[in-house]
Amino acid sequence: MLGLVTPLASGNRKVKKMSEPSSSAAAKISSFALLVIFLTLALSLVALILAINVLYTPNQEPSVAGYLLLIGFLGVALSTYVLLQTRKRIKRLRIKTPPVITTVECRKCGFKNIRDFQRGDYIFKEVEPCEKCKENTLITAIYREVKEKRKKTRF
Ligand SMILES: [Zn+2]
Repeated sequence: MLGLVTPLASGNRKVKKMSEPSSSAAAKISSFALLVIFLTLALSLVALILAINVLYTPNQEPSVAGYLLLIGFLGVALSTYVLLQTRKRIKRLRIKTPPVITTVECRKCGFKNIRDFQRGDYIFKEVEPCEKCKENTLITAIYREVKEKRKKTRF
């Protein structure tokens, strides 16, 4: 996603939402983890079905069914546990990365505008003309928005 936004695209100033690298990384982790989890889940379900099949087949050893049941239940438990852990970790990752904010200020009339950080922003860069006096505006601050209100509830 980030690669699509070029710093030279001056006509694209009004793009509000940028995907942050951390959240896309989290999405990558989650999709990979989900694949593994669902594979494990599917395999353990197969094991359970096999176990039931073995139980209903009269000439089979009952201990085979027991092993298959054990594998199936372990698989289901493990994949559920990993799924919950991954969801927790992704939530924590998202909390840890508040958005980066750019402050744009007009030097002539003092008009101030706050927007999301865009690639290519730097302090004292001249950007779009002021909404009030049409003078060029300057970027005066770039910072990460920290939400102090959120208390740590975990651990
Ligand atoms: Zn102005």
